[in-house]
Amino acid sequence: MNKEIMNNKTQLQGGCLCGKNRYRTTTMPFAAEYCHCRMCQISAGAVTVCWMDFKQEQVKWETHKPKEFESSEYVRRGFCDTCGSSLTFRDTRHPDYFTLSIATLDNPNLVQPTYHIYTESQVDWLTIDDKCKRYPKGQTK
Ligand SMILES: [Zn+2]
Ligand SMILES: [Zn+2]
Repeated sequence: MNKEIMNNKTQLQGGCLCGKNRYRTTTMPFAAEYCHCRMCQISAGAVTVCWMDFKQEQVKWETHKPKEFESSEYVRRGFCDTCGSSLTFRDTRHPDYFTLSIATLDNPNLVQPTYHIYTESQVDWLTIDDKCKRYPKGQTK
């Protein structure tokens, strides 16, 4: 990871495949992780999803806000209703926090996940050879 780039003053930009939903952040994320849960896998159409976590007010929408799907009682998953890109995650029990997909950044190299969650459902054939901490379910502190 480029340490010069990774400082708290860095702003990030990204958006969906068609450009209808564009966001900008006012800071770097306070956390970033791989999620291997089945909900993320199916929702994004990918065997793992890399997420980055912000305070809600640190994320600004420059164009449209993504449409949201209620994937469970508390979880809302944001997507573009034109191109289908999976963009966001939020938990209504934690309204101060907002999560964006690292893959939707204009430059996904700027944010590197540092831990894995829900590795109990990581696919058998996927080998990720890193030293990051692994949590079988959600993160436990
Ligand atoms: Zn789109
Ligand atoms: Zn997940």
